[in-house]
Amino acid sequence: MSSSQNPVSVITGGAGFLGSHLADYLLEKGHEVIALDNLITGNVANIEHLAGNKRFTFIEHDVTEYLYLPGHVDYIFHFASPASPIDYLELPIQTLKVGALGTHKALGLARAKKARFFLASTSEVYGDPLEHPQKETYWGNVNPIGPRGVYDEAKRFAEAMTMAYHRFHGVETRIVRIFNTYGPRMRPHDGRVVPTFIGQALKGEPITVFGEGSQTRSFCYVSDLIEGIYRLMISDCAEPVNIGNPREMSVMQFAEEIIRLCDSTSSVVHKPLPEDDPKIRQPNIDKARSQLNWEPQMDLEEGLRRTIQYFRELIEKKAI
Ligand code: NAD
Ligand code: UDP
Repeated sequence: MSSSQNPVSVITGGAGFLGSHLADYLLEKGHEVIALDNLITGNVANIEHLAGNKRFTFIEHDVTEYLYLPGHVDYIFHFASPASPIDYLELPIQTLKVGALGTHKALGLARAKKARFFLASTSEVYGDPLEHPQKETYWGNVNPIGPRGVYDEAKRFAEAMTMAYHRFHGVETRIVRIFNTYGPRMRPHDGRVVPTFIGQALKGEPITVFGEGSQTRSFCYVSDLIEGIYRLMISDCAEPVNIGNPREMSVMQFAEEIIRLCDSTSSVVHKPLPEDDPKIRQPNIDKARSQLNWEPQMDLEEGLRRTIQYFRELIEKKAI
């Protein structure tokens, strides 16, 4: 860590998929970046290209434990949390702890440093939504005791805690509700639909569509998301903002698109639909458009081609 006048940003979950892309973006903007991660679902391979960069520091740390950092900090991006359904089903207590205790610690650090705090929340706060597309004003339809409740309620608690620190302690806070985002550095076996389908298609294995595949999702490329996150951080929006790509498709259509783009001979097999799997999901991004002057730029086909290329290289290196 140097003592120059560059803005200093802390990223919890900095060795994860999104955290590592955010680190690249902020370093490009001239920030000093301190990434905190306990590597529970992250991977140092995501940040190994930053080793030797004097403005980048990695600290292996569980953010549910007391957090002390010397020196001044301008921004704290709280991204630590298991994020894929199979991860948070396998790590239910850790997911609740990082959403609750981890958010509390990160907010405490922001307060002590007089830093601006940024929470990575999720479209999962809307649960299995009864409003479509989802606007920020929608309160959601979440089953608190279902298997996904550990993630959804942790994030809802994290949002409530963030607003409490804002209102009660006057901490400057921002909340992004992230909709399904994909791109290079997703973990090949994290169970999310994008790496799963691409891995299966590239290996010629059957594509596992859960249920009939009529449930919908809307996929945002990682570079678009990171741009939206940065614009939100420097904006004055203290209330949550959706960031995602409104282009919606069914999981079955998505499987067909992946088979086509991978030039694959894979067939489709149907597996049981997981409990409480949201039936529809599409962001309303009017607020991001009007307040952040943001909207996604990356076309789905081009974003998927880049992501497929990343997984193709991992397979060639026998890394998966
Ligand atoms: P990821 O699993 O790649 O990254 C999460 C990182 O947090 C990992 O590196 C993990 O090791 C770290 N972590 C978890 N618990 C920790 C703890 N107690 N202490 C320190 N580090 C810890 O997942 P991602 O997709 O990069 O998600 C990042 C954030 O964005 C998460 O908060 C997630 O809920 C949110 N989000 C992501 C998406 C998406 O589509 N990718 C959608 C909605 C919300
Ligand atoms: N899905 C699927 N097959 C898989 C993995 C996921 O059909 O092998 C479906 C899943 O049921 C959900 C959608 O794809 O409807 C997106 O799942 P993902 O795990 O990526 O994230 P979610 O949006 O559910 O959080």
